[in-house]
Amino acid sequence: MSACLLGESCRYDGGAKRCEAAIALASRYELVPVCPEILGGMPVPRTPAEIRGDRVVSADGEDRTEKFLLGAGRTLALARATGAVKALLKSGSPSCGHGLVHDGSFSGGMKPGDGVTAALLLANGIAVYTELDMAGL
Ligand code: SF4
Repeated sequence: MSACLLGESCRYDGGAKRCEAAIALASRYELVPVCPEILGGMPVPRTPAEIRGDRVVSADGEDRTEKFLLGAGRTLALARATGAVKALLKSGSPSCGHGLVHDGSFSGGMKPGDGVTAALLLANGIAVYTELDMAGL
């Protein structure tokens, strides 16, 4: 589960996105918190990033694609090590978003797509949900 949904202050702005409905899943699941961007070596706070084409770029123009891929790979490794078959991830994030992500313009616009980590988990057979669509959990 995205660590920010569990209340960890790992977001780019130093905040969290605590989600009580997600936390309540602890009654039925063993929850494994993970922040792919921290695993990718990025600090808190950090300049926000968005997906632009096949790259991930920060608002100040840094190409962070390799860091995002590193974090995604480490998240997949953690999923395999813990036997995870489902992932509940934070919507909209360039790492964790599923189905819809920010459009790369840093203007609040959205576009269809998956975050880097969500895409890698899906490609490896792990079901991905967000806090906006928890049907099936
Ligand atoms: Fe939350 Fe995922 Fe962003 Fe980390 S990378 S702060 S877990 S949305």
